Amino acid sequence: SETLVDTVEIARLSTADGDFETRLDALLAWEGVSDAEIQGRVDDILAGVRARGDAALIEYSNRFDRLAVSSMAELTLGAERLEQAFIGLPEEQRAALSKAAERVRAYHERQKPESWAFTEDDGTVLGQQVTALDRAGIYVPGGKAAYPSSVLMNAIPAHVAGVREIVMVVPTPDGVLNELVLAAAHLAGVDHVFTIGGAQAVAALAYGTETVPRVDKIVGPGNIYVATAKRAVFGQVGIDMIAGPSEILVVSDGGTDPDWLAMDLFSQAEHDEDAQALLVSWDASHLNAVEASIERLLPSLEREEIVRQSLSRRGALIHCRNREEALRLINRIAPEHLELSMADPEALLPEVRHAGAIFMGRYTAEALGDYCAGPNHVLPTSGTARFSSPLGVYDFQKRSSIINCSREGASELGRVASILARGESLTAHARSAEYRIQK
Ligand code: NAD
Repeated sequence: SETLVDTVEIARLSTADGDFETRLDALLAWEGVSDAEIQGRVDDILAGVRARGDAALIEYSNRFDRLAVSSMAELTLGAERLEQAFIGLPEEQRAALSKAAERVRAYHERQKPESWAFTEDDGTVLGQQVTALDRAGIYVPGGKAAYPSSVLMNAIPAHVAGVREIVMVVPTPDGVLNELVLAAAHLAGVDHVFTIGGAQAVAALAYGTETVPRVDKIVGPGNIYVATAKRAVFGQVGIDMIAGPSEILVVSDGGTDPDWLAMDLFSQAEHDEDAQALLVSWDASHLNAVEASIERLLPSLEREEIVRQSLSRRGALIHCRNREEALRLINRIAPEHLELSMADPEALLPEVRHAGAIFMGRYTAEALGDYCAGPNHVLPTSGTARFSSPLGVYDFQKRSSIINCSREGASELGRVASILARGESLTAHARSAEYRIQK
C-alpha cells in the first residue's frame, strides 16, 4: 500500500534548475487565514464573553476544555500557587528553569531604551519619554502541549519593560495543570494566572470580565482560534503578531557533521506538520550526506510521524552554486531561524538583511535559542522578518514625544506655524501660535 511510506520524501532543489523559482515559491507559500466557519465560531465566542463575562468564560471552558467548574475561583491561580509549583519542581528542573530565566532577563535588560531630550539654543527642549504598558496579557498555549519556555519568553520582556501588571492565561484541557508552566510564571514575574484558553481567553483579556482585568496588549502564540480572536480584537487592544508555523533555514559550508544538521532540521519539523525546515549548501555531496543522516535518524525520533510529514510537505535540501546565491536565498526567504553553519559566519553576517534570529557557527544549535541562550524565541515567521523583529522589551513600551518651548522658541516657531496653518486655512491654529509671538 502507498500509505505506509518509511522513506522521507524531502524535496531536492537546485538553483540551476529552470523551475527553481516556481518550486521555491510553492514551498514558501503559506495561507495563514482562517476559514469562514472558524471566523464565525470565534465571533460568537467573543460576543458571548463581551455580553456575559465570567458566566460565558465558565461555560466555554467547560465545553472546550472538558471541565466541570461553576465559579471563576476554580479558574484562578494566585501568586502563592505559582510559587508552590516552583518549589515543588525536581531540583534539576528548578535549576535549569532558573538559569534560563536569568539569562533571558539579562539579555532583555540590555534592550531597555532610554528616554532622551535635548535643548536647543533658545532654550526649547525636545525629547521622548518611554513608558511601559499598564497591563499586559500573556497567552500560553496549553491544548496539545505545554510550553514553559514560552512563558519566560513572553513574560520576562514585559516585566523588564516595567509593565505594572502581567496577566497570564493558559488552558487546562481536562483540568490538567502543568507545574513547569506555573513555575515559569512565578520566575517571570506574572501577577495572576487564569486557567482559560482559546478565543474566550483572548476575549476576556481584551474586554475584561468581572474577574479578569482588561489588558492593554495581548501577546503569545496559540492555535487557529487564538490567532483568529487576536486578529479580531486588535484595535481594542494591541497584539504582538500572528505567528505562522515555525521555520528554520540552515546554510552549511559542508563542514558540519551531517547528523547535527539533520537533528537541527528535525528540531523545527517536530513542532508540527506545517513547520518548515530547509537546508542550503553549495556542497552537493554534503546534501547527500545530510539526506542519509535524515533517513537513518528519523526512526529514532519520538515525533517521527510529525517530522516525516513536515519534511515531506514543506522541507527541502537546496543546492546552490556559491555563497552569494545562498545569501540571496536567505534574504528572499527571510527565515524565522537562520543557522549559518560554517567556518566564518561573521563574513556573511553583515549581508544578512532579513532573518528573525541568526545562529552563528557550527556549535550554535537553534534549540539553544529556544530555551536558554537569552534572546527571545518569539520571532517573525512566514517572511515577516522583512518588516518585523523578535518580541522584546520595546513591545511592552510606548513613547511619548515631549515639547517644551521657551518664550523665544515659541516666538520663532509661532511664525513658522502661523504661515503653514494659514496655508491650510486653519485659522485657530494660526492664531493660537500667533498669540505667543513676542512683539
Ligand atoms: P491553544 O492553547 O492554542 O488552544 C487550545 C484552546 O483552543 C482550547 O482551550 C479551546 O478553548 C480552543 N479550542 C479547541 N478546539 C476548539 C473548538 N472546536 N472550538 C472553539 N475553541 C476550541 O493550544 P493548542 O491547540 O495546543 O495550540 C498551540 C499552538 O501554538 C500550536 O499551533 C503551536 O504550534 C503554537 N505554538 C507556537 C509557538 C511559537 O513560538 N510560535 C510556541 C508554542 C506553541
